[in-house]
Amino acid sequence: MFDTTLRDGAQTEGVSFSVSDKLAVVRTLDEFGVRYIEAGNPGSNPKDMEFFKTAAGLKLKNARLVAFGSTKRKNIAVRDDANVMSLLDAGTAAVAVFGKSWDLHATEILNTTLEENLNCVRETVKFFKDNGKEVIFDAEHFFDGYKNNPAYAMLVLEAAKGGGADVLVLCDTNGGTLPMQVYAVVKTVVEAFPGMRVGIHCHNDSGCAVASSMMAVEAGGCHVQGTFMGIGERCGNADLTVIIPNLQLKGGYECIAGNLETLCETEIKIAEIANLTVPSNKPYVGESAFAHKGGMHIDGVDKLSRSFEHVDPSLVGNSRKFLLSEVSGKKAVLLKVGDIAPELTKDSPETAMILERLKELEHEGYQFEAADASFELLVKKVIGRFRPHFELSMYKASSESPAPDGEMNSNAMIKIKVDGSAETTAAVGNGPVNALDAALRKALCVFYPVLSDVHLIDYKVRVLETGDATGSRVRVLIESTDGHRKWITVGVSTDIIEASFAALVDSLEYKLCTVEAAATV
Ligand SMILES: [Zn+2]
Repeated sequence: MFDTTLRDGAQTEGVSFSVSDKLAVVRTLDEFGVRYIEAGNPGSNPKDMEFFKTAAGLKLKNARLVAFGSTKRKNIAVRDDANVMSLLDAGTAAVAVFGKSWDLHATEILNTTLEENLNCVRETVKFFKDNGKEVIFDAEHFFDGYKNNPAYAMLVLEAAKGGGADVLVLCDTNGGTLPMQVYAVVKTVVEAFPGMRVGIHCHNDSGCAVASSMMAVEAGGCHVQGTFMGIGERCGNADLTVIIPNLQLKGGYECIAGNLETLCETEIKIAEIANLTVPSNKPYVGESAFAHKGGMHIDGVDKLSRSFEHVDPSLVGNSRKFLLSEVSGKKAVLLKVGDIAPELTKDSPETAMILERLKELEHEGYQFEAADASFELLVKKVIGRFRPHFELSMYKASSESPAPDGEMNSNAMIKIKVDGSAETTAAVGNGPVNALDAALRKALCVFYPVLSDVHLIDYKVRVLETGDATGSRVRVLIESTDGHRKWITVGVSTDIIEASFAALVDSLEYKLCTVEAAATV
């Protein structure tokens, strides 16, 4: 499994990953257990180069980082090509090199000869092999190229093999090839290159990217490229969250090194980072993928789950939803509560209480998959192990526009009480949430100096209902750090300041709880 969420996926309209977003996605994917993570194109984009420099220090347990770039430009030496050199500078153990395999692209787009294009492929692959890299060769437009000039398309693969490529990846770059055609072509290539690893890279322009990738595996392919959420340019890329369970649960393949039961939370985590929502009807991972509404369906599933379910939802970390039974929900809660309250069992009354509270909050728009710190606090509150570190008396936040000359445009005032003694502070900020954060932290630091190390590193807002634009509910996710570790908290309200404040309070309470826990140990 070769994930390209951070490279091809980042070409999705409206999606943009910061360097720290990318690092978070890499950690998540590595934990999940994909083998390769293609994380950017260092030659085309300085942000990607910065990412690879930072990522060099990451210790990954399952995945290999891959940098992506093109074959060298025509008629120059490989060493003189700046993009090729940036790809080498990225310092990854593996590189994905793409080259033209459609004769039309070589002559009409690159304006070169067919022979020089083969030379570009061979020389570039060889250059990276000589530098000790694992080379994954992406044969761009392979299926269109094969249709137009099969002999030439095969010569391009031959050139990549001649340069020493480790994997030959056949790309359906325009996404127009149908699954049966993919099967036939992949089979031909697998037979023509015995012993070579052959891969597939499909786009979803005909709605067949998942099916085509599966057919490629059926035809002997052993390397599948795709993205989480199926994001990618135009209609997206092949969706790994569908391909992986299909192959693993139904085809008997071992696709990942991690646990397939973390599929759902991995998808949701990455969606949160990309600021996207997972469609509820999405196979395997959607909220409704195992939701039963019809009375007869509920009755059937209750008697025998496979009567109305193609797989057991727990295998992918999803859960069955219907009103009759809470058994699967309790299991899901227990899985998450394990570290916080290991003594709880399915039959503990606290487990049912946590589930109840979780359902209420989820109904209000909360989501805890990404917000682990808020979830931990929620569990502690329900089981009576949470003692608030302060009490809010009031807060006020306001902004003015335009900002007074040379000053911040927002200010906030807050009054809190800790063990009976009150503290009132005010602060300015470049927005009301920023000012409120500063005021709250200032007040709390009087009692808890340890909070001076904590600061916000990310802030995301999602509108949850779009019917009534200004009256919509919003969900705010805040990521904080104390310089050693990071945690995410969540708040929901129709008022963006209130939602932000709830997430801020959770963030600071969480830090104080962890400090206390460490002191008791
Ligand atoms: Zn692509």
